[in-house]
Amino acid sequence: MKYPVNEIFQTIQGEGYYIGTPAIFIRLQGCKVACEWCDTKYTWKNSYENQILNEEIIKKEKSNKKWSYMTTQNIILIIKQLKWTAKHIVITGGEPCMYNLLDITTLLEEKGYFCQIETSGTELIECSLNTWVTLSPKQKKTTLKSSILRANEIKFPILIEQDFLYLKKILHMIKKRKNNLIFLQPISQNEKALAICIKKCTEKNWRLSIQIHKYLQIR
Ligand code: SF4
Repeated sequence: MKYPVNEIFQTIQGEGYYIGTPAIFIRLQGCKVACEWCDTKYTWKNSYENQILNEEIIKKEKSNKKWSYMTTQNIILIIKQLKWTAKHIVITGGEPCMYNLLDITTLLEEKGYFCQIETSGTELIECSLNTWVTLSPKQKKTTLKSSILRANEIKFPILIEQDFLYLKKILHMIKKRKNNLIFLQPISQNEKALAICIKKCTEKNWRLSIQIHKYLQIR
């Protein structure tokens, strides 16, 4: 199985449950959701004129529309060549669940890695049973019920108070489940959204996710 990889890099997970964890990020190309505030718009289209060689992906100094088809073996080789030490892999996008992730998550687990997927939940989630699924619902496109049920954590982006209405609908589906992990994440470090999130997290005993990588100005 080949995946269209936009970038691959080692950093610190800056959001959600695994915040602060050293991680290797694999960003896949392609997304059909089109959120206005998306900070990875360069991943939306898989245009063939932007296809590059595997070696060029690791030379990318800044994020752009270029991408390359890679097998999981190609990815493992890069990790070994670059002597990256993180054992936590984050498969993100774009929307990574546009692709069947069973192959990549299974093979990486066999090599001793723990996999996490960051998804909008708008596509069927196909991955290993042990994969941690971070669901970040986007109101632009319906979140599948199967994604809500599979999620290990829900990291909900907030800009204005009305955004909670969609979260409420989602939580209704898992109301019988105990210990749901709910994170509120202010969109684009917006100060008003941050204040709304702090207030709501305190009221509901949810957690705040503030994208520490953006404050630290790391990738
Ligand atoms: S789902 Fe994610 S990658 Fe796709 S448009 Fe929305 S924020 Fe961007």
